[in-house]
Amino acid sequence: MAQIAVIPGDGIGPEVMEQAIAVLERVNALFQTDLSFSYALAGGAAWEKYRDHLPEETIELCRSCDAILFGSVGGPVMEQSHIKWKNVERNALLGLRKEFSLYANIRPVRLFPTLAYSSVLRKDIAEKGIDLVVVRELTGGIYFGDPKGRSGRGHKESAYDTMRYSRSEIERIARQAFKIAEKRRKKVTSADKANVLETMVFWREVVDSISAEFPEIEYEHMYVDNAAMQLLKNPSQFDVILCGNLFGDILSDESAALAGSLGMLPSASLGRGGFGMYEPGGGSAPDIAGTGTANPVAQILSAAMMLRYSCARPDAAEAVERAVEVTMEQGFRTPDIWNDGCITVNTKEMGARITGNLE
Ligand code: NAD
Repeated sequence: MAQIAVIPGDGIGPEVMEQAIAVLERVNALFQTDLSFSYALAGGAAWEKYRDHLPEETIELCRSCDAILFGSVGGPVMEQSHIKWKNVERNALLGLRKEFSLYANIRPVRLFPTLAYSSVLRKDIAEKGIDLVVVRELTGGIYFGDPKGRSGRGHKESAYDTMRYSRSEIERIARQAFKIAEKRRKKVTSADKANVLETMVFWREVVDSISAEFPEIEYEHMYVDNAAMQLLKNPSQFDVILCGNLFGDILSDESAALAGSLGMLPSASLGRGGFGMYEPGGGSAPDIAGTGTANPVAQILSAAMMLRYSCARPDAAEAVERAVEVTMEQGFRTPDIWNDGCITVNTKEMGARITGNLE
């Protein structure tokens, strides 16, 4: 039995989470996955009760679970300075990442050929489809390296950060990327900047050594600036893109933009021993919260990732992904991905269609 901590959060979070849970309950019935759900608060929703964006009670509950299914947190952009919303994302999300040492950020980007029109890419490129995963190291690199700070005054004033990676940090994220590639199209592209940065020369050496453990995986290096360009010119060449924290931050957002809507993009942040946090790529979308029009697909696909990575049920994960694909092929669309000739549905109807297509 797997125990899941469910944190719906704010804005559209609870709306899309309701649909993801409905899908998982159907999965329980069809696949005997035996998942059970315990709810907890984070973000503005937690602030109302605890005056805290990540209360100890929530952390405790997560500790007793096998995975966290997270919605999104945050308030309207105009109210960011209000105490209820100030630093909410940092407090809740970074708090959980830190608490559970979630070192691997996995962001699949899939552009279904039927949704090619919603991509920012030229039609002939988008129609080839995109199916890639960005694997980003999440707890090291320049965002966390010491020393960082400022020194001097006047014209001599300067600021500095440190990019630092240890062998073990690179090894564990590289292994994660190769293992993911094993279950996909068996190709890893490691994006680095080994022509300029010493850290990246080391990165390349260590990834090379890990690649030897996976002889059946096609493996290549690519300078990150070229990778950024190739994502726009020929994204269908990529299967798994492996990168450090800084480059992964940029490439994963760039890849996300290729897929059309944030409402389609799931993500996972993995820690040790199969523990992970699963959440949609987008935020709490206050502009559409309460209208019942949010796209639940990202949350549902995040639940599928949870089935694969934390519950060891790839069969159930594939069934959920297939149900989403079939629903897209049937022409059902929430407003964010709508196109001429499609059938507009709201959040609940989209969830029900996907649940209905599960088999
Ligand atoms: P956002 O991702 O919430 O919204 C950006 C745009 O995408 C909006 O137009 C929104 O309507 C649309 N969108 C996002 N998800 C959608 C979905 N499922 N269906 C349809 N449309 C969708 O980003 P933002 O507007 O910059 O931020 C809003 C709030 O969310 C802020 O408070 C921000 O701090 C927070 N936020 C939270 C997370 C998180 O919890 N992981 C991530 C990003 C932003």
